[in-house]
Amino acid sequence: MHYDCDVVIVGGGFAGVTAARELVRRGIRTTLLEARDRLGGRTWTRGTALGRELDMGGTWVHWIQPHVWAEITRYGLDLIASPELDTAYWRVGDEVHTGTAESMLDALDAPMCALLAGARENLPQPYDFAPLPDGIKRLDHVTVAEKITEQDLDPERHALLDGMWALNFSGDPARSAYTQALRWCALAGGDWKLMFEACATYKFARGTRSLLDAIAADAVGTDIRLNTRVTRIEERSDGIEIGCDDGTRLRTRRAIVTLPLNVLNSIDIAPSFGHGLPQIVTEGQASTGFKVWIRARGDVGRFAALADSTAALTFVQYEYPFEGDSLLVAFGPRSGVIDLNDPRAVESELRKWLPDLEVVAVDAHDWTADPLSGETWPMLAPGQLSAVQQAAGDLTRGVRLGRVL
Ligand SMILES: Cc1cc2nc3c(=O)[nH]c(=O)nc-3n(C[C@H](O)[C@H](O)[C@H](O)COP(=O)(O)OP(=O)(O)OC[C@H]3O[C@@H](n4cnc5c(N)ncnc54)[C@H](O)[C@@H]3O)c2cc1C
Repeated sequence: MHYDCDVVIVGGGFAGVTAARELVRRGIRTTLLEARDRLGGRTWTRGTALGRELDMGGTWVHWIQPHVWAEITRYGLDLIASPELDTAYWRVGDEVHTGTAESMLDALDAPMCALLAGARENLPQPYDFAPLPDGIKRLDHVTVAEKITEQDLDPERHALLDGMWALNFSGDPARSAYTQALRWCALAGGDWKLMFEACATYKFARGTRSLLDAIAADAVGTDIRLNTRVTRIEERSDGIEIGCDDGTRLRTRRAIVTLPLNVLNSIDIAPSFGHGLPQIVTEGQASTGFKVWIRARGDVGRFAALADSTAALTFVQYEYPFEGDSLLVAFGPRSGVIDLNDPRAVESELRKWLPDLEVVAVDAHDWTADPLSGETWPMLAPGQLSAVQQAAGDLTRGVRLGRVL
């Protein structure tokens, strides 16, 4: 077979661009195919309707993400902290409770510790989950909602815990795998407050794009083709043929597929994946939510707000002062329940906590509805960790799947 290149990378998000850098630096002829007109995938720093550039996707980073942290220090990138929050509002039914941000976290502490007890012991090496420990295997069918209900909490603590997990999963706790919650906590050394800090505290001073641009600059030599959507990957005995929507056909020795799990079925892969992967893709991961940026009139104070998973918006956090107004970021577990481009729709949700708040502008990208992502951040539903672990195990054993992925 004649090869157009040694490796084709499908997808130009962080995974694809980082893989390209590693390959070209080793002198391997690499082509990267990206369907969008830009690199970065689910991270996207862009100008917004709020009046300044913001991160529409991935934003916060932390030293407990070792690979990400290695990249930040490698390129010497500056981080800034989200503001210290002084006030918290949390809804229990229609009632709004108010306190310090610290008091809200304190109220969450006991039920959260009970929920996550045993995370470290059950997952002593959370980055290396193959083979799955027996304790985890047994729990993989359980949902976060079931574990919360088991605690028989008072309505206030139930609402707080349920809302916090709707935020963490970007989805409904009733479809969220308890094993994934344990794994997140184990990755934070078993400390849920560190886990929370990692999710929403430190961000890039010049946006996530600053890291993307640094890695991409080191991947020079990669044949990067934007606006090129892969439609077919066919493995043959002597290599792999890649087909694209513009008619391009490429022959390569190896392919690296970096697509979000939820859109893997949008490519015709032959022979098809084995094990549980197709099932995960068909049923979808747990993350079905959205993130929206909000410009609120005036200084609304440095606050966080939380509501349970039945709410359209479950979490809001103050982020920046801007031209006398306040920029807020909010999350909800179900894409499509409110129009993310309609300031009045978002305002009426925010007013459930703060009746006088006035929304000036909103901006969002709906990653769940986007056919090139189909999800926000990857979070597994019940049973999916076992399927992923099985596929990962086969990969390391070098079975056929390893040729394609
Ligand atoms: C709203 C939101 C908030 C988040 N917040 C955080 C955070 O604060 N901190 C954090 O660490 N992470 C966060 N994440 C997660 C983080 O952004 C992702 O885990 C990360 O960007 C995934 O990178 P990736 O390269 O694996 O996938 P992607 O970035 O999704 O890259 C895959 C690429 O494949 C392309 N593609 C899809 N189909 C095809 C095709 N058929 N042919 C060619 N190309 C194709 C896509 O266009 C995309 O560019 C967040 C994500 C979202 C959406």
